[in-house]
Amino acid sequence: SYEDMREVRRKNLNPALATNFSEPLLIHEGHMQWLFDHTGRRYLDLFGGIVTVSVGHCHPKVKEAATKQMSKLWHTTNIYMHPKIHEYAERITETLPGDLKVVYFVNSGSEANDLAMMMARLYTGSFDIVTLRNSYHGASPYCIGLTAQGTWKYGFANGFGIHNASNPDPYRGLWGGYRDCEVQSTRASESMLEGGECSSAQKYVDQLEEVLAYSIPRGRLAAFFAESIQGVGGTVQFPLGYLKKAFEKVRSYGGLCVADEVQSGFGRTGDHFWGFEGHDVIPDIVTMAKSIGNGFPLAAVVTTPAVAATMAQALHFNTFGGNPIACAVGISVLETMKEEKTQENCKVLGPYFLNKLAEIRDKYPIVGDVRGKGLMLGLELVEDKGSRQPISAPRIMEVWDGLKNLGVIVGRGGHYGQVLRMKPPMCITKEDVDFAVEALHEVLQKACD
Ligand code: PMP
Repeated sequence: SYEDMREVRRKNLNPALATNFSEPLLIHEGHMQWLFDHTGRRYLDLFGGIVTVSVGHCHPKVKEAATKQMSKLWHTTNIYMHPKIHEYAERITETLPGDLKVVYFVNSGSEANDLAMMMARLYTGSFDIVTLRNSYHGASPYCIGLTAQGTWKYGFANGFGIHNASNPDPYRGLWGGYRDCEVQSTRASESMLEGGECSSAQKYVDQLEEVLAYSIPRGRLAAFFAESIQGVGGTVQFPLGYLKKAFEKVRSYGGLCVADEVQSGFGRTGDHFWGFEGHDVIPDIVTMAKSIGNGFPLAAVVTTPAVAATMAQALHFNTFGGNPIACAVGISVLETMKEEKTQENCKVLGPYFLNKLAEIRDKYPIVGDVRGKGLMLGLELVEDKGSRQPISAPRIMEVWDGLKNLGVIVGRGGHYGQVLRMKPPMCITKEDVDFAVEALHEVLQKACD
């Protein structure tokens, strides 16, 4: 029973594994954009695990590819050749621009970022790394250093040689707080979507330069890591122009540019297959996970032949990376995306959803900002629009639980847990968006009464 399961969870699963919602969901099945609980009740899944289900839960085509591979060969390590790892390496690199042609397969986003860090250090012979505040790059002891959010750090310090610059946050300003945040239009994020270069980009580049100049031994930067839209940090969308200028700065200090596309990549932003392409930059290393496997453990680090060549010094090994089933799944997900025009769906539904969210923002005093691109959207809740004070914990819980009770699952993020995150399986429809919007109106109206 549900109660028995909760008891097992309490007794046999580590308490660090937090569950969503006051009454956690017991999920029995998932099909495409729908999840089904132990009573058979269905929920529209707007979070896809954590931004991981791309083409749909248990997508029949992907399931078939996995099953077929499973009956042939389900494990060999990457010290052997097998057709699937080669086929997938070719296929995934075809999606990337420039010289990004060499893949190392791993199993999770954290593992990918650990490896990217090692590659950058080997290639440059330097040690220091800069990441952006409010970023999330993983939970391994190494990645905890890259992840610049205090909530996740616990026993680990920032990591020797890792420095943080301010994340460009048009809503919360240079220091990410709320008391001192600049007074800007609550429509700041919309003006960025219109395509103009946001004037505030420069001040964040200046702040990055300050970190580079004061914290890094001259010319000895190994890498700069950035998500192209901060995911766990609350769908924080950088002003256009920032990443381009930041990459130029970083390269002038001798560092490599690493794009963490674990959440923002894979067609989700609609206009481009990879989030960084929307910023007109080409990174030296790209890390990817989540969507590429549609929920199957599959992740990769892709880099240029020159950077990859230095890895010959490392004899780096992992047991499961490039597993035949994972690669068969990866190939099938790519094919499915093409056949079902998944990226196109993000491109069409994203603005439709965002417009509806903008109406919601204009209607309710506790909605401070809405933002995002394609099907990577966020809605930031505040106590009031003027002060932008983040909403209190009990009030956000009420909204979050309320949505779930109406059959809509969304994620939460942001420094204060104040941002609702909508990053669904990319197969959702216009009717699903309408259903979610109706639920949002209902819970927000109740929360404002
Ligand atoms: N990078 C980003 C941008 C992420 O969102 C995450 C996971 N939330 C990771 C890295 C780490 O991925 P994993 O949990 O698979 O280790």
